[in-house]
Amino acid sequence: MWELTRACKLSCLHCPAGAQQKRSQAELSTYEAYKTIDQIAALAPEELIMTGGDPLERGDLLQLIDYAQRRRIRPSLSVTATAGLTGSMIGKLRANGLGSMAISVDSAARDRFDRGRRVPGLFTSTLMAIRWVRTAALPLEINTLVTRDNVEELDTIASLVGDLDARRWNVYFPVPIGPSKQLPALTAGEAENAFGRLAEISERGRFIVRAFEAPQYGRYLTQKAIREDPARPGDGLTALAACAAPLDRRDILFISHTGEVSISPFLPLGAGNVRYQPLPALYRSDILAALRDDDNLRGTCGRCEFKRICGGSRARAFAISGDPFATDPLCAYLPAELAGAQRPVEALS
Ligand code: SF4
Repeated sequence: MWELTRACKLSCLHCPAGAQQKRSQAELSTYEAYKTIDQIAALAPEELIMTGGDPLERGDLLQLIDYAQRRRIRPSLSVTATAGLTGSMIGKLRANGLGSMAISVDSAARDRFDRGRRVPGLFTSTLMAIRWVRTAALPLEINTLVTRDNVEELDTIASLVGDLDARRWNVYFPVPIGPSKQLPALTAGEAENAFGRLAEISERGRFIVRAFEAPQYGRYLTQKAIREDPARPGDGLTALAACAAPLDRRDILFISHTGEVSISPFLPLGAGNVRYQPLPALYRSDILAALRDDDNLRGTCGRCEFKRICGGSRARAFAISGDPFATDPLCAYLPAELAGAQRPVEALS
């Protein structure tokens, strides 16, 4: 996941990306961005998500996507429907090798959508941009930030995602840093109910559902599978959870707009900078290896029999406690050791 820039002309309420009006002087230059693509290619990632800010604020975006394509990477671009996202631009992005486009939709209701982002007319612009994405035959993904303000709408938004023929729905659970501290985040119990909704929606099979900063969704799916088939072997459950909720700290590498490398956009514990060190070396750095290692977990997560499937959001643990290995409070699960009972998943740990 690569944050190309933090610049964005919109001023969405509580922007989780901490976007700014102008591009930073410290952003990676075009040359440095090319070198970064070389290094990303060396890691042969399954997926490269280019994010912002508004990636369209970078005048070299088309060049970067073309360069990535020549290095055999077809990136996904994560955007909000800003003025620069025109039909012509979407066509050029597609022609230059873009693999898919992910557009933010936080509500299926026009007024709530515009009010939530504090940008009048954004809902209409978003649907227009989605129409252009489909005209360009570009695979579509929808990004949704889930809070108390829209959690009741998950089914309605999911219907819209299906009707728009999106291939994936990326559901983000906020981490309380920067402007996101003001967001009405879900409690652990509310998140558990949301996982139930997402699991049901996922089972309908219209599109893939992915949870970001909520690896607990993998734990939820695993528990559900155990309830439905108690005889399923432990390794089968691990594989199931990995397929159903493939994004956790072990899979993600984040590169900031200035080149700092971490495991999450929301965890300000960097391994170093791609300007000065090769990305594969940063990926294998001691700090990132430690953050990926379940044996370092403390608190409830450290004693949890699901820690190898889940492990909690290290970004949320750090944001709330200052300790990246502490308990992720967005979790309603009480491990067997703490509950004083044996659970049928001990073989997993
Ligand atoms: S206690 Fe931690 S590791 Fe266990 S399911 Fe919850 S968040 Fe995941």
